[in-house]
Amino acid sequence: MEIKNPLLTLNSKLPSILELSKAQLFENLQSLQQPRFRGEQVWRAIYKECQTSFHDMTNLSKELRSVLSQNYSIGSSSTVIAKKSLDGSTDKTLFRLSDGELIETVLMRYEADGHRRGRKTVCVSTQAGCALGCTFCATGQQGFRRNLTVGEITEQVLVMERLARTEDEKEVDIGQRSRGEIQGVTNVVFMGMGEPLANYDNMMEAIRVLNDQKGIGIGARHITISTVGLIPGIERLAEENIQINLAVSLHAPDNDTRSETMPVNKRYPIEDLLLACQKFVKKTKRRIFIEYVLLKGQNDTPKHAAKLGTILKDLLCHVNLIPVNPTGEGPYQRTSYKEAQRFQSDLKIFNVPSTVRMEKGIDIDAGCGQLRDRALALTDSLGTNLA
Ligand code: SF4
Repeated sequence: MEIKNPLLTLNSKLPSILELSKAQLFENLQSLQQPRFRGEQVWRAIYKECQTSFHDMTNLSKELRSVLSQNYSIGSSSTVIAKKSLDGSTDKTLFRLSDGELIETVLMRYEADGHRRGRKTVCVSTQAGCALGCTFCATGQQGFRRNLTVGEITEQVLVMERLARTEDEKEVDIGQRSRGEIQGVTNVVFMGMGEPLANYDNMMEAIRVLNDQKGIGIGARHITISTVGLIPGIERLAEENIQINLAVSLHAPDNDTRSETMPVNKRYPIEDLLLACQKFVKKTKRRIFIEYVLLKGQNDTPKHAAKLGTILKDLLCHVNLIPVNPTGEGPYQRTSYKEAQRFQSDLKIFNVPSTVRMEKGIDIDAGCGQLRDRALALTDSLGTNLA
């Protein structure tokens, strides 16, 4: 049997089946005279059961398993380094893509608190490198390499889903949770390497795959896209018929301050960006998350807080204040917790809700733009959009 797929002719390595949309997968199986339900079975085996080998898909005929394994791989990335933080809360994996590019993915675990169950958030990359050059970000200093494909994005979540479920299952074995409480990954944030809205189509297709209830089934409200403020992308996103969250990295209350660290501000200045945010909220009725990494003396003075309060007071938003050390040997220092709290009370005067997230001990590199802390802050405040 032969599978008709243009991908097959392109690469001497087997193409990743994760690059196929559901429709393409079904078509390919139909071309092998397979009934439609086979497509459902293969999709489920890959995205629901998270199988890593076609040979383990024992509900398929031996012949079909063999054809699939001769024609496809399940994923195309390999793990180069996998690190766990000392407190066990965070895993960071460095993946090598099929062409040698390297990307990072982080899994963060939250203990249950109050009525909230424990959560596991994956922070995914959407590009190898990044063209936007934020001065506080290690990835931004490397320059742009290329966009990730749909399969390369979904594979990051699949790998972490397998890890998360294995942990859940261990807890079942020792009686800490019931089988019905196995949940795996609960949240996905597009906040890793690269600017997600600069790889819009692949990002959205990956979201559809992750959101598919017959697969991993991450609820749209548990998916967040973080952008530095690409206005055309925000406008497109507002038109999508899916209730995902939007986080905007603002990091400054005025154009002069913002342009110092974020070159993108020259193309999309704050007033235009906030207008796009207003339109997004109007269209989606969803609160926007504003990320604000506090940099000592650069954007954290009472004057900055007052300006921020002024520009955000009419926007349905939640501000995540993140006093962390910038990456590398940049000129900025960390804002103290006391100063961060003072900044927060200044915002309160304008009725702008915010959360201060202190850096926990990071013993593994946080990657792009204080990725881990930004993602932690975001997952903490997501409840505000889930009500
Ligand atoms: S913070 Fe994000 S957008 Fe800015 S350079 Fe880093 S990866 Fe690119």
